[in-house]
Amino acid sequence: MRNEPLYDEILRRNPGEPEFHQAVREVLETLDPILQARPELAEARVVERICEPERQIIFRVPWVDDAGRVQVNRGFRVEYNSALGPYKGGLRFHPSVNLGIVKFLGFEQIFKNALTGLGIGGGKGGSDFDPHGRSDAEVMRFCQSFMTELHRHLGEHTDVPAGDIGVGGREIGYLFGQYRRITNRWEAGVLTGKAPGWGGSLARPEATGYGAVLFAAEMLRVRGEDLDGQQVVVSGSGNVAIYAAEKALALGANVLTCSDSSGYVVDDKGIDVALLKQVKEVERGRVADYAERRGSSARFVADGSVWDVPADVALPCATQNELDEAAAAVLVRGGVKAVSEGANMPTTPEGVRVLTEAGVAFGPGKAANAGGVATSALEMRQNAARTVWTFAEVEEALTDIMRDIHTTCHETAERYGAPGDYVRGANIAGFERVADAMLAQGLI
Ligand code: GLU
Repeated sequence: MRNEPLYDEILRRNPGEPEFHQAVREVLETLDPILQARPELAEARVVERICEPERQIIFRVPWVDDAGRVQVNRGFRVEYNSALGPYKGGLRFHPSVNLGIVKFLGFEQIFKNALTGLGIGGGKGGSDFDPHGRSDAEVMRFCQSFMTELHRHLGEHTDVPAGDIGVGGREIGYLFGQYRRITNRWEAGVLTGKAPGWGGSLARPEATGYGAVLFAAEMLRVRGEDLDGQQVVVSGSGNVAIYAAEKALALGANVLTCSDSSGYVVDDKGIDVALLKQVKEVERGRVADYAERRGSSARFVADGSVWDVPADVALPCATQNELDEAAAAVLVRGGVKAVSEGANMPTTPEGVRVLTEAGVAFGPGKAANAGGVATSALEMRQNAARTVWTFAEVEEALTDIMRDIHTTCHETAERYGAPGDYVRGANIAGFERVADAMLAQGLI
């Protein structure tokens, strides 16, 4: 690849950040055709500039737990690229969060957000705080401390966070409350993923999972198929997985699995989404609890991989690098036809190679899971207009956006000599939108 020296330089300047290196490499590897076709981009060193975040913020988050002990976490916000709009991207609260993870997510977000066509830049943030086992009061105190520092960097025209792993409606509520208190402003558009009663958009919780299924449906449609009657494996059991399962069921598929860090569940009768929502969202339980409550059709498997379950369509909706080379080979042997990434970078590069070489339709996260952030942009639009759309209006807009993203990726891949290669299509199309904006706006 032309960018090999740049990649070496990135390795040297960003040591110890393997996920970030992986995300950058995957993009750089696909850009040769466009850099060849558009030498002015190379001349303006657009790729070098895109790889360097505009701003990286790291801060201390002190808070007091229920036992009265002082706890100290680390907070991050990487404001990666604002050529197309305010920085936009979620906050992740998980013990694995470090600067490299936030940079990988922020880097992906630039291209994902560009693909939506909705005028949003790329950013990401979070903390190594682990919400599991914490009381509501502890989560609130953590969120208040986190926002006390972060608020000075945010604004509806500057940087607009949302949820990601470990950050859902509850956390967004506490974060918004603290932002409002400190700034004395009702600035609805400063955060997305709010509850519908106070500025949130209907269908935002559903959007990422629904979108990943709509993307899978589009990939199948190109091959003359649809989701009706297909067997689907879903990994994860958070917001993305739950609503991916719900949409796949609505389109006539049978959803066999869900998972968490302790294992996976196979449900011969198909996942009961209402029960899964109850266990995960209301009781904040585990998938083992789901299996226990569901009865004889479901069994919990503590070791092994959810990808061992043969299926027509796989929807990785848990976390990065959860689907590796070996798992991809098992999926291929099981006859998988399409993989649509609901999570961010859930498939390893070797896994992607195995799937694509076997002719599996592969939808990369930055295209397939863009429905979440796209609906966040629709939430910002509703906030700016001080209006509220119906569920049906939001869902219709989401469906159109996912179809457009699919078409863009498909056509771009074809134009650059790689028909059916959605990775190349997504990277080149997303890159070109950002690169054109950066060129036009001068050396900044
Ligand atoms: N965290 C989500 C993502 O990975 C959503 C971000 C947003 O809505 O801003 O795209």
